[in-house]
Amino acid sequence: MATMRVVKPEVAEMMVAQISKPGAEFEIVKREIPAPGPRQVRIKVKACGICHSDVVTKEGLFPGIQYPRVPGHEIAGLVDELGPGVSEWKKGQRVGVGWHGGHDGTCRECRRGDFRHCRNATICGVSYDGGYQQYMVAPAEALAAIPETLSDADAAPLLCAGITTYNALRHSGALPGDLVAVQGIGGLGHLGVQFANKFGYKVAAIGRGSENAALAKKLGASVYIDSQATNAAGELQKLGGAQVIMATAPNSKAMSALIDGLGPNGKLMVIGATLDPIEVTPVQLVTPISRTIQGWAAGTPADSEDTLNFAELTGVRPMIETYPLERAGEAYARMMSGKAEFRVVLTM
Ligand SMILES: [Zn+2]
Ligand SMILES: [Zn+2]
Repeated sequence: MATMRVVKPEVAEMMVAQISKPGAEFEIVKREIPAPGPRQVRIKVKACGICHSDVVTKEGLFPGIQYPRVPGHEIAGLVDELGPGVSEWKKGQRVGVGWHGGHDGTCRECRRGDFRHCRNATICGVSYDGGYQQYMVAPAEALAAIPETLSDADAAPLLCAGITTYNALRHSGALPGDLVAVQGIGGLGHLGVQFANKFGYKVAAIGRGSENAALAKKLGASVYIDSQATNAAGELQKLGGAQVIMATAPNSKAMSALIDGLGPNGKLMVIGATLDPIEVTPVQLVTPISRTIQGWAAGTPADSEDTLNFAELTGVRPMIETYPLERAGEAYARMMSGKAEFRVVLTM
């Protein structure tokens, strides 16, 4: 007796790790693979880094986030389908998306070419579904090309942690040979030390405890300063004072304590974000020393391409722990624990 074959209609589905409401745990669900709209591109996601800023989506920290929402803004993958009006990308091309999820091209900042500060900028994984899924759709202007020899899992963290440290440093004003300190040997700092070394700076890595000393040297620091055992600002002054201190660890007290380590015209470059104040007296900034405190927000997709190309050229790579997409909840918890060394990456 012949068995009858049941023919189901073909609905292409994909696996998604989503947050159903602020504060909820990750749930793994199936969804229909989305179609790209005008000026959009569908990406087959190969890897997505887990960034601490994903807490924005997980806990609903920004107003107006629509749920369910898929976090993720460190995406590496392949162009899978082009929406109408997209001619600058090709099917099968390797691309990434970072925090900068798109810009309108029409606001005052965009008309001045300052896309990074677009008034209507969208954020990948916040304004629309990000990379914790097998396929995603992004605006064409949010994409960055990934160079040939960078693996997907290595490229992913470079699209947020990488671009942030690379871009902040290259706009810091420090010149080759200058003393540049990197505060924090973590997700951002371990990349910052590598970039600073490849930029030709004399690198002082500042960490808590002695256990990171060997690693910091291996990453390219010429000096390691244990901020628990010594006065880090004093140690920097013994070396002549830092031209730039890039503060990566989100710890305002630690940042405040470093300001006296800056030399004349020195700059505290803040990229670790916290809500409590940095404390500084006007005298610390003025008294014949002219110091600056500056914040820096990641960068545009063009900056991402610069970061990726520079990493390919110089061998800068993130240290990563990988998890399959279906273990997104566990992977996120690992990132939040602060114990990951140093970036957690989902692979598909
Ligand atoms: Zn990020
Ligand atoms: Zn704009």
